[in-house]
Amino acid sequence: MVTKDTKPVIFLFTFPLQGHLNPMFQLAKIFFNHGFSITVIHTEFNAPNFSNFPHFTFVSISDGLSEPESYPDVIEILHDLNSKCVAPFNDCLKKLLSEEPTAACVIVDALWYFTDGLTEKFSIPRIVLRTVNLSSFVAFSKFHVLREKGYLSLQESQGDSPVPELPYLKMKDLPWFQTEDPRSGDKLQRGTMKSMKSSSGIIFNAIEDLEPDQLDQSLKEFPVPLFSIGPFHRYVSASSSSLLAQDMTCLSWLDKQATNSVIYASLGSIASIDESEFLEIAWGLRNSNQPFLWVVRPGSIHGKDLIEILPKGFIESLQGRGKIVKWAPQPEVLAHRATGGFLTHCGWNSTLEAICEAIPLICKPSFGDQRVNARYISDVWKIGLHLENRIERLEVENAIRTLMTSSEGEEIRKRIMPMKETAEQCLKLGGSSFRNLENLVAYILSF
Ligand code: UDP
Repeated sequence: MVTKDTKPVIFLFTFPLQGHLNPMFQLAKIFFNHGFSITVIHTEFNAPNFSNFPHFTFVSISDGLSEPESYPDVIEILHDLNSKCVAPFNDCLKKLLSEEPTAACVIVDALWYFTDGLTEKFSIPRIVLRTVNLSSFVAFSKFHVLREKGYLSLQESQGDSPVPELPYLKMKDLPWFQTEDPRSGDKLQRGTMKSMKSSSGIIFNAIEDLEPDQLDQSLKEFPVPLFSIGPFHRYVSASSSSLLAQDMTCLSWLDKQATNSVIYASLGSIASIDESEFLEIAWGLRNSNQPFLWVVRPGSIHGKDLIEILPKGFIESLQGRGKIVKWAPQPEVLAHRATGGFLTHCGWNSTLEAICEAIPLICKPSFGDQRVNARYISDVWKIGLHLENRIERLEVENAIRTLMTSSEGEEIRKRIMPMKETAEQCLKLGGSSFRNLENLVAYILSF
């Protein structure tokens, strides 16, 4: 812990997507609790709610984005932000450093790959926050080899073949990007790798005891210090960096349900599905006869609105057994005694939040690291079931029944308990994340 009169300043540059804002704000709070003074640099697009963080200083930069609706391709938004923010970030950092010349470092999200050159120009150490786990990090770091070997353009029929370079993964799990243009994904990958390799260190919201082989691999391949200090959300109070209003009625509805009976379903903040997949999930949830809480984010069904799609009488037919909301207080939902399973897109934040509450999973991954996480969940850690084929109502219904009511589900539930314990132990005195955080703080103070 640094003393009050020293209070070194850390600048954090947040990336404006929900799955990136949450861990960055949690990290900011962790550093604040260690006595650092926090200045958050953010874009106007998806700006955070400042009032939830009264102890931080906020500086906004112009991002030049037009209405987000005009960006159906997320990877294109990432590239656009990376080109449009160069000058505004440059000016912002210059001004901040003139006011705070002794600032300790700047922490940037890995998706801000353009910051590579700028921070060297200003001679301030740049540490990168990588929001994926170590297994996905290793998979992404081999991206160029996978591309060269043609694995990323294989026929669907070869999807079940193992990947020789990544022992646990199948070809169909490789980290694809949700973009029309494969070159766009390659460009993102090259940019983030270059930027991470030239950084002063990389921070992960991960637990090294859960992925020891991957840590060894990463250490071998990366020339900079790596700090796995997760799970971030366990150090600090509940998330308040939500971009959408959380529907708190979820919690009173959960209060009325039996212990471990509810299947919670959410596909995170970006993944979207088509109308037929949506209907298959709807019928699968209904026909399972389990109570369910389902997050249907606005815009998450291609071009349609929830109410337009649901068959007439569907909601009434549930007789209160299902609740559909636009956005939930997810960490609280997962921690609720009534929640017994999670149908998820396998984003890393969601996966880690579920592990910390010992909630077994049903995986319906879409893109990027979600497929790697799904394979780990179903085949390596064996803490969930995997909906691998095109989604069908019977498959959804059977997976829910298996997870919630069968002896196989009971076994899965038992296997996730030690992982929850690991997630608790690693934060305690002498635990891996505790140690790594101490090392990280000492490292930053040594700059
Ligand atoms: N989340 C939430 N309410 C919801 C759904 C998600 O607060 O209804 C939060 C969730 O707790 C997690 C983040 O949004 O911290 C989603 O991040 P993740 O990495 O799981 O997926 P992404 O949205 O980046 O695909």
